[in-house]
Amino acid sequence: MLTAILSPRKTLKKAILCPKCGNEMDEMQSNKQDLALKRATFGIFNAVRFLCYGCFWEERKIRNKVERRNGM
Ligand SMILES: [Zn+2]
Repeated sequence: MLTAILSPRKTLKKAILCPKCGNEMDEMQSNKQDLALKRATFGIFNAVRFLCYGCFWEERKIRNKVERRNGM
């Protein structure tokens, strides 16, 4: 499968599946908008982008640093 060749194996990470075709999505680098959000919220909120290599669907997820810390 094409996806398996393009994306490195991330067995420890929870896989994000594409809502359109069900393919495993790959994490992308944050862009300026994401960095602006992080700066505006003093690093509490962090946006992470995911890309599907099957249909090139892009998804943005917002992570809350504080929530994550309390959960651990
Ligand atoms: Zn897809």
